[in-house]
Amino acid sequence: MSDLLPYYVGAHVSASGGVHNAPQNAHAIGANAFALFTKNQRRWVAKPLDLEVISDFKQRCAELNFKPEQVLPHDSYLINLGHPEPDALQKSRDAFLDEMQRCEQLGLVYLNFHPGSHLRKVSETDCLATIAESLNWAISQTESVIAVIENTAGQGSNLGYSFEQLAEIISQVEDKSRVGVCIDTCHMFAAGYDIRTQESCAEVFEQFEQIVGFEYLKGMHLNDSKGGLDSRLDRHHSLGQGEIGLEVFRFIMQDDRFRGIPLVLETIDETIWADEIQLLRQFSLGE
Ligand SMILES: [Zn+2]
Ligand SMILES: [Zn+2]
Repeated sequence: MSDLLPYYVGAHVSASGGVHNAPQNAHAIGANAFALFTKNQRRWVAKPLDLEVISDFKQRCAELNFKPEQVLPHDSYLINLGHPEPDALQKSRDAFLDEMQRCEQLGLVYLNFHPGSHLRKVSETDCLATIAESLNWAISQTESVIAVIENTAGQGSNLGYSFEQLAEIISQVEDKSRVGVCIDTCHMFAAGYDIRTQESCAEVFEQFEQIVGFEYLKGMHLNDSKGGLDSRLDRHHSLGQGEIGLEVFRFIMQDDRFRGIPLVLETIDETIWADEIQLLRQFSLGE
């Protein structure tokens, strides 16, 4: 028997009615990982999590065998930690801190976020520095949650579309134990990383290892892409139905470097998530 960690595969499930509903929603599709929003992702403020919801969430995670490292909470879409204007930046930082605190209350270890955008008002370099400063600020006020930077498709003025930019943010974070990355396959392809064959996947993830390092990889978003290579479009598709095809998912499920971290579907047809999870598991068995 090997002592390798399992592959943790799941989807970004609904937490409607309360975060305590998410573990069951994940379990129902055969997942052993999940992502969720801990508050309405399109609103700035939310009421604090009540104690009963917190204890229900923890209890159901325990019953259904979801350990904290199998859960990848996602922050609000409104937050821009690289905002060029001081008031708007502070609003984003406050909201991000609240998200980190909610994760800690739920006993979770990660918070996945989109790095931020310069809105064409400051340089990329300045914006990356602002994002890192935001992280240092939020990390200093929390205990343990790891801020997990998601790569982007590079749409609009969103940063984080290259491995170099992810590495640059990490290099400016003081406590390296509190920062990680989540790589979204759709975003990386739309940002110009060709991951359509086994050979190109091996090359691209070797670049990732050299520039960022697998020790920072805390999760993956597994999505096919409606947009083409380097299209800069953030448009997800179901696995195998988009421009990327299935090879990258086979590659990931047969490479031990992707074990032990949440691998999360954000594909567009949730009625086939159970089948997509099944397909991924088959890949991991060498099929
Ligand atoms: Zn994503
Ligand atoms: Zn996306």
